[in-house]
Amino acid sequence: MNVLIVSAHPEPRSLTNALRDTAAAQLSADGHTVRVTDLYAINWKSAADRADFPTLAPAQRLRVPQASGEAFATGTLTDDVVQEQEGLLWADALILAFPLWWFSMPAILKGWIDRVYAYGFAYGVGEHSDTRWGDRYGEGRLAGKRAMLIVNAGGWASHYGPRGINGPIDDLLFPIQHGVLFYPGYEVLPPFVTYRADRMDEMGFEATAQALRERMRGLFAEPPIPFRRQNGGDYEIPSMELRPEAAPEHITGFGAHLVPS
Ligand code: FAD
Repeated sequence: MNVLIVSAHPEPRSLTNALRDTAAAQLSADGHTVRVTDLYAINWKSAADRADFPTLAPAQRLRVPQASGEAFATGTLTDDVVQEQEGLLWADALILAFPLWWFSMPAILKGWIDRVYAYGFAYGVGEHSDTRWGDRYGEGRLAGKRAMLIVNAGGWASHYGPRGINGPIDDLLFPIQHGVLFYPGYEVLPPFVTYRADRMDEMGFEATAQALRERMRGLFAEPPIPFRRQNGGDYEIPSMELRPEAAPEHITGFGAHLVPS
């Protein structure tokens, strides 16, 4: 199988990159083909702007979704974006490796998503009508592929527990796991999160690396997070609210979008 790892850390010798390389080495040892996009190493342009749409007439007002859709349809997206889209289509699994910065991903990685996820490629896909709201949340261009996060956090695991002050890690990662990965069709595996990452020592690293190797061995076998599929019958159209039969009305928040076990 093919695996694309996208990493976002400014220091080549960082813990993030060491874990990325651990994952890549295990996957290669298991016979998979691994490609790495190191966003800082390639000096990825993170801001989506007019330069992304070279064929847009100077007098035309920039409306990003429209310009993105037009450029995708006419094959005029910039080469860096096209190359990353090809990587996503090539890969059977996508891994994003990053340190948690302000409870989210570093800006360079967000900018990779903003630019690579073009209209018509990752959103605006499929039939949009009175009876269907496109192919997304479990369907879409990247359906049939798997995705997973490798995240380092400075805080303690308890800070990210069900009653922890930072909020539960599954809630914090919901916009990435559900909004960015499940949206265009990925099956999303539970994240690999390392807490107290700044305090990591060599012994801790070896234990963490070993746990990550185990996760990599199960990359194509482990059950994904059971997010509800948009077009699976659980949501009203066009309000896109959960039907009362799918979840009683007191069930709200991110967890409501999981199929009950
Ligand atoms: P590094 O700094 O590269 O390394 C961490 C430690 O691992 C070092 O001591 C290093 O020696 C050790 N190490 C052990 N073995 C190895 C090895 N083989 N290779 C490399 N290193 C090794 N934390 C939160 O919890 N929530 C937040 O919202 C948050 N926001 C932040 C925002 C910013 C802007 C910044 C800078 C930090 C933030 N942090 C936050 C902390 C951040 O998540 C951690 O600093 C980060 O996850 C540590 O991972 P790293 O890859 O940068 O580690």
